[in-house]
Amino acid sequence: MKLKRKIVHVDMDAFYASIEMRDHRQYRDKPLVIARDPRHTAGRGVVATANYAARRFGIHSAMSAQEAYELCHQAIFVKPDFVKYRRISKEIHAIFHEYTDKVEPIAFDEAYLDVTENKKEVSSALHVARLIQQEIFAKTKLTCSTGVSYNKFLAKLASDYHKPAGMTLVLPEEVNSFLADLPIEKFRGVGKKTAPKMHQLGIETGADLLEWSEVDLISKFGKMGQILYQRVRGIDERPVEWKRKRKSIGFERTLNQPLKSSVEVDDMLDFLAEKLTEAVQQKQKHGKTLVLKLRNSQFETVTKRMTFDDYLTNDKKNFAFWGRQLFDQMQPNEVDVRLLGMTLTNIDELRFENIKLPLWKE
Ligand SMILES: [Mg+2]
Repeated sequence: MKLKRKIVHVDMDAFYASIEMRDHRQYRDKPLVIARDPRHTAGRGVVATANYAARRFGIHSAMSAQEAYELCHQAIFVKPDFVKYRRISKEIHAIFHEYTDKVEPIAFDEAYLDVTENKKEVSSALHVARLIQQEIFAKTKLTCSTGVSYNKFLAKLASDYHKPAGMTLVLPEEVNSFLADLPIEKFRGVGKKTAPKMHQLGIETGADLLEWSEVDLISKFGKMGQILYQRVRGIDERPVEWKRKRKSIGFERTLNQPLKSSVEVDDMLDFLAEKLTEAVQQKQKHGKTLVLKLRNSQFETVTKRMTFDDYLTNDKKNFAFWGRQLFDQMQPNEVDVRLLGMTLTNIDELRFENIKLPLWKE
């Protein structure tokens, strides 16, 4: 399989309910609803999720807890413990990141992974999905379903295809048959508003949708029509939106005329320190290591770093001062600078310390 992209969609099976069944033996094999008990809340509350036993009664997430109770009187209601669910979600994400940093979380229990290139250099996306599934189960005793394909739209549909503990691969040549029987409601974007209109037009499945021209779909459904025209042909170029975890923040400047004096270097250090201070404050980060990079007229590049026990204060005078100490170690005698760079690394979230709150306006 040689695909341009390899996308895995991981979806935990009845996540919250599975966690509570794992942690409470007495809930197993019983209909379990994660929601506050409507008998104690005067009928309020919404179902966060339900286990498969409860789903057989027609209970599903986003339904009112009262409705769930009416469908199944013997159901057990358990108040959601989101602190616990988040903690377990983090454990699962740590597993994802063993394979790739290109992870797009959708909810606590769902994420897209771009494994085209992955840290374990496993070429088969199917194999990656299998390994992740196994590792999640080994570490959390929870099951998930995975969908593997060359874009997000297909990967998500695939993970939903066999649940629980399923794994589905959709190859380019299988797209038509995979989507042909798919109910139109399963296409993302076809919701409560669009679905009745689709039915009116006789569009019940992917196969029906495929017969429509792009122009006609756009005239009936606008932008969504165009998207659906592409989706039913297996086209979805949306990237996996992952946030690169920045390990350093820095700036550098190349000079046309090499700096030859200490005063010029001080000015440049001030400039870089100011840029750096603005950037780290804006990103709410701080760091323990300051790195200075220097290139001379002979294009020799050297870096020198200084690591502190505590985080450096985000202050331009502070950065400039330590930058100067580093510089003096690198060019103690003759000044010759074609490039100067200042980087803060070993960085972390700026939490409570050092945050300057604008309590008073001057
Ligand atoms: Mg799920």
